[in-house]
Amino acid sequence: MRCRIHTLPSITLQALVLIVYPFFHRIKRGVFTLQLFDTNQFQQDLLAWYRSEKRDLPWRRENDPYRIWVSEIMLQQTKVDTVIPYYERFMNDFPTLQALAEAPEEKVLKAWEGLGYYSRARNLHAAVKEVQSHYGGRVPDSEKEIHQLKGVGPYTAGAVLSIAYQVPAPAVDGNVMRVLSRLFSMYDDITKASTRKMFEEIIRDIISEEDPSSFNQALMELGAVICTPTSPGCLLCPVADHCRASAEGVQELLPVKPKKKAPKTVHLQSLVLSSEDAVLVEKRPEKGLLANLWQFPMLADGEPEAMWTNYAKQRDGTVRNLTYVAHIRHVFSHLVWEIDVYKAEGSISSPEERQAWMTEAQMDEAAFPVSHQKIREEVQSSSSDR
Ligand code: SF4
Repeated sequence: MRCRIHTLPSITLQALVLIVYPFFHRIKRGVFTLQLFDTNQFQQDLLAWYRSEKRDLPWRRENDPYRIWVSEIMLQQTKVDTVIPYYERFMNDFPTLQALAEAPEEKVLKAWEGLGYYSRARNLHAAVKEVQSHYGGRVPDSEKEIHQLKGVGPYTAGAVLSIAYQVPAPAVDGNVMRVLSRLFSMYDDITKASTRKMFEEIIRDIISEEDPSSFNQALMELGAVICTPTSPGCLLCPVADHCRASAEGVQELLPVKPKKKAPKTVHLQSLVLSSEDAVLVEKRPEKGLLANLWQFPMLADGEPEAMWTNYAKQRDGTVRNLTYVAHIRHVFSHLVWEIDVYKAEGSISSPEERQAWMTEAQMDEAAFPVSHQKIREEVQSSSSDR
């Protein structure tokens, strides 16, 4: 579907839009058109605001496609304030695409530790290696090529192409979908792929050809700081004159997305088993949730003494002084882990293939998910409290 834009003089625009557009849009829902939208004025208003108000963020100080790519992957579902220290550390460890391509996965996961969504780090690493080997270390600047890289979806591709190379490609993320839903008073479900595609087509028609980098970043910025999920700041909004939802007073009803299913809760126990100066840890499976990260052994909840004694026995070991330490709750997007944490002393003579004994110093170098970092902290503080 292709959107059509007809630019009208701005004086008549407001009156016409107010009277005609709500009706027009409703009869055209699903075959959205952009008639009556003053694209030039919209671009001017949006870009003038962005140029004077944009936040000074580390990845905005340059246009190296590798650095922009890393920042965009980190920013997916993670807040800017959280990302900044991670981004700076990551760039310190891997200042160039080549440095990242040549790094071992363990080191990449360690640098990503705490950010979550570790499959993104693994995909980024794989894609960077491909850029190094197939494109001589230069991030491709065409939509066709960049889309073929692992983990590079339409949003990341559009963000890197537009910000680093000034290609007028759409970069539609959740923020941008929220802004567009409100701007055009669109009630289409934003979790549907067809809605995202429609928004991408709209962006292709309204994007600034002169400065697609600022245009895309301005829409993201608007969604992040003014057109926020709750209580959008319409009074301060630089594009309020163009906004249908604001004119209709329906901005808080948009965007439309179905309620998420409640995440599944799993009750677990985890054991921090010490033997002299080492602790038993295990590497998670190569695929799936938190793949290849280290953790302390975990079992489904049960009677702790019998369960962990049996666990050790099956591995030719023993457990002594089993003590409850703390409860940890960790929420993933689809799952909640409720973990009772225990510590004990003991031995395991026949550990599993992916298990190892690690000292504190070795654990400092290994990548653990946030939940198991918390377990480690709880056990350390329970030991120092004694
Ligand atoms: S006027 Fe309000 S709803 Fe419309 S884009 Fe601006 S902040 Fe969002």
